[in-house]
Amino acid sequence: MSHFLDRLNFFRQTKETFSHNHGAVVAEDRGWEDGYRQRWQHDKVVRSTHGVNCTGSCSWRIFVKSGLITWEMQQTDYPRTRPDLPNHEPRGCPRGASYSWYVYSAQRVKYPMVRAELMRLWRKERTNNNAVEAWRNITSDPKLSKQYKAVRGLGGFVRASWDEVYEIIAAANTHTIKEYGPDRIFGFSPIPAMSMVSYAAGTRYLSLLGGVPLSFYDWYCDLPPSSPQIWGEQTDVAESADWYNSTYLMVWGSNVPMTRTPDAHFYTEVRYKGTKTVAVSSDYGEMVKFGDIWLAPKQGTDAALAMAMGHVILKEFHLENPSEYFTDYCRRLTDMPVLVTLKEENGALLPSYYLRASHINRQLQEENNPEWKTLVLDELSGEIRAPKGSIGFRWGEKGRWNLQQETRDNTEIKAQLTLKENADEIVGVTFDYFGGKDAKSTLVKNVPVKKLTTDGGETLYVATVFDLLCANYGIDRGFGGEGVAKTYDEDCPNTPAWQEKHTGEDRYCR
Ligand code: SF4
Repeated sequence: MSHFLDRLNFFRQTKETFSHNHGAVVAEDRGWEDGYRQRWQHDKVVRSTHGVNCTGSCSWRIFVKSGLITWEMQQTDYPRTRPDLPNHEPRGCPRGASYSWYVYSAQRVKYPMVRAELMRLWRKERTNNNAVEAWRNITSDPKLSKQYKAVRGLGGFVRASWDEVYEIIAAANTHTIKEYGPDRIFGFSPIPAMSMVSYAAGTRYLSLLGGVPLSFYDWYCDLPPSSPQIWGEQTDVAESADWYNSTYLMVWGSNVPMTRTPDAHFYTEVRYKGTKTVAVSSDYGEMVKFGDIWLAPKQGTDAALAMAMGHVILKEFHLENPSEYFTDYCRRLTDMPVLVTLKEENGALLPSYYLRASHINRQLQEENNPEWKTLVLDELSGEIRAPKGSIGFRWGEKGRWNLQQETRDNTEIKAQLTLKENADEIVGVTFDYFGGKDAKSTLVKNVPVKKLTTDGGETLYVATVFDLLCANYGIDRGFGGEGVAKTYDEDCPNTPAWQEKHTGEDRYCR
């Protein structure tokens, strides 16, 4: 009761007022404010970033008290870019700003978690089967696999042991290899910029397995994935500030304002200079808002859109109207002229390994690392040559590991991109076709080839990467056969008309 009266007395206190009664002086206890002040107290300030697979690497001031992170604030001491470019700062994003909270969060994932539905199925199947059989039983039974796939996105994860998840992963990989082959395993491991060890471990695992190491950008999409996929380096070479130097930007595979927040301003700012922007996204992502053109392929079909673009680029710029600059670039700095062996499998010819000096060494006399020297057909001599620059020239070949178009004795060569004019034969080559009914679908295309005899007396067909590429894209080059198109309107895999069927995007952007 007395407590209640005290509270009533609080309202009866006579207050001293000021500013014509707009302000009042009260004698209440303000001790509660200390809690707020203590929230921001700290012993020291250190500099750090968020090493959570984020390549933003924004500079943050971290305020630490008694060894614990209390809060953080964006650092603003970046060097200037240059007078005609916007500055980088302030860098940061809302995820980063709240990072200090989740370092100590009870929800932080510390153990392997598996969806409960899958875990139930796995444990049941595992009781009477070995691991690979258990996985096969679950995934090959439409009813069982639907059971765990249908609840994706609904949470429901349960804690698992490391041993159990290792076994599930190994079983899934083994089953896929047995059923479809190792090259149907795609993966990535966390970025080298953050941890070379974790990156190298996963990438090496996939490489040794015969799988496909993807770029990590496919996974978390903070930057466009195509650059690392094509060039094989860790990240996009030009830094984001360089977007400001572009006159045409295509944003694809990345929702820049959301996933690359600290750099998004370069994308928006460059539009004030008149740069044209194209956004490719199935949904109306933030980056679409800035796009002059929005291409919205149906979910999961944008590979078809990309293949059709490749079809047009190859046809119009490499075959019908080649420019000296690009042709020279392709000869010297890509693997397009490199010869690829074709292997016979069940009566079909498949693209296989690169032809290397060790296959025909008697003709080439490449004694050092011949297994690691790729070969091209030289337009100048008409002979097969080993140009400098392949990995075989990396060791024991002082001064020869470079991209000069020369052989080891400095003889100039000109790598031939296509065998069209001097093919020994036109043969049908079988390509995987991922737009088919299942993972084993294939298409046969005619390709110009050379016929060689190896040191071991074996007859070998070889084709250039460029010819295989054009065939795979379905461009009619006059070799006959099926699976190639003369016009963009033919419904043939990888043509603009074909992509329209899959993506829903008008082939003429009407
Ligand atoms: S982008 Fe966000 S999460 Fe990444 S380093 Fe910058 S602030 Fe941190």
